[in-house]
Amino acid sequence: MSRSAHPAGPRHADVLPEGHPSAPPADLNHLDRKVWASTVTRTPDGVVSVGGVEVTRLAEEFGTPAYLLDETDFRERARAWRTAFGPDADVFYAGKAFLSRAVVRWLHDEGLNLDVCSGGELTTALSAGMPADRIAFHGNNKSVDEIESAIRAGVGRIVLDSFQEIVRVAHIAQSLGKRQRVQIRITVGVEAHTHEFIATAHEDQKFGIPLAGGQAAEAVRRALQLDGLELIGIHSHIGSQIFDMSGFEVAAHRVVGLLKDIRDEHGVELPEIDLGGGLGIAYTSTDDPREPHEIAKALTEIVSRECEGAKLRTPRISVEPGRAIVGPTAFTLYEVGTIKPLDGLRTYVSVDGGMSDNIRTALYDAEYSVALVSRTSEAAPMLVRVVGKHCESGDIVVKDAFLPADLAPGDLIAVPATGAYCRSMASNYNHALRPPVVAVRDGEARVIVRRETEEDLLRLDVG
Ligand SMILES: *Cc1c(COP(=O)(O)O)cnc(C)c1O
Repeated sequence: MSRSAHPAGPRHADVLPEGHPSAPPADLNHLDRKVWASTVTRTPDGVVSVGGVEVTRLAEEFGTPAYLLDETDFRERARAWRTAFGPDADVFYAGKAFLSRAVVRWLHDEGLNLDVCSGGELTTALSAGMPADRIAFHGNNKSVDEIESAIRAGVGRIVLDSFQEIVRVAHIAQSLGKRQRVQIRITVGVEAHTHEFIATAHEDQKFGIPLAGGQAAEAVRRALQLDGLELIGIHSHIGSQIFDMSGFEVAAHRVVGLLKDIRDEHGVELPEIDLGGGLGIAYTSTDDPREPHEIAKALTEIVSRECEGAKLRTPRISVEPGRAIVGPTAFTLYEVGTIKPLDGLRTYVSVDGGMSDNIRTALYDAEYSVALVSRTSEAAPMLVRVVGKHCESGDIVVKDAFLPADLAPGDLIAVPATGAYCRSMASNYNHALRPPVVAVRDGEARVIVRRETEEDLLRLDVG
């Protein structure tokens, strides 16, 4: 059967493939508050708006695909984390989730600190005016140049990730005539992922120094001896997209256990512990994330209880949410292109982006939802798979979702909860031009990261 590139006209509702888990939602026009940024709403004429601006206008002005970021929602989430943890704790936003200069300024305004893990992220943070002492530098293989830049800039802490790095950072700091504040990242034998965590005896991963076998204690011993270092605490990051707090409970128990051993051996009580990030968000209606104040209360209680048991002063806690702040604040706006019904299976809906702007589905088997946003529809639901335009059959944006059966080329659809790890992991695969990030607030939209152009591509190609 031959088919034009843009078949028009109504599509039939597909039959659900055998064993398909989810039924279509009662109303396809409804926007589930859980997965959409706070100012997203459907206007009386049926078009969805964000920050008071309709997506049809945004598409006209900025093109598609585009990441539309709700600045009000971002600030509210940042503030909620800051407020929840209060003055005796620090919230470091994990810049790798999404970093731009505008975001750095918002974080600064809202009183958050910032995690970076590369020279590029450090430069972005400093160039937007984040005070260096509010920046933490991470990474399992920081280059000598990166370490030197971080120390010269005066970052608040470097998180040490290996025995070699302990010596390297101490040496560089000393040669610059400085004493660098550091934490040691340890692995506590807990791996948390979404709704469960696994306690393992042995940590088979590239990050951190294992608590097991006394390695973390040995790292502390060495760090305490080096003049270039001021050891301020222990760091643990157990996973991502976590809903179950029990993984943090085990991690805190083990970190505090190490603090106690350090006190007993060296007579020093380290003043800080960092419990990392990884708090989950709602990608679909089935996810139920916790509010920052519940997380803050749970973590603070766990640490205080553990410290009381170990007769330690409660250290200053820091956390590092990335996804939980920026993830829900943005959605990706796409224009529908080719629609291809496969009888008895599902309908493939192709959009003008794909794995180049959202690699998470291909990389992590991530789940997303999708909605028709340029109009409402009363048509029956059809089971769809939203795919991109790349030369790769794994180029899937949304694996399984329902869209109205009258979906047509030129409609705008949006995938919510794409604020984290989408633009920051975007690629130029097939020489795609990475989409812009447009911040919308109080009826105004402004580009904070512009769309790439073909000139940008050619500029790098100097052969
Ligand atoms: C990735 C990372 C985070 C942030 O993780 P989220 O899932 O975005 O909250 C925090 N801390 C460290 C050390 C990380 O590597």
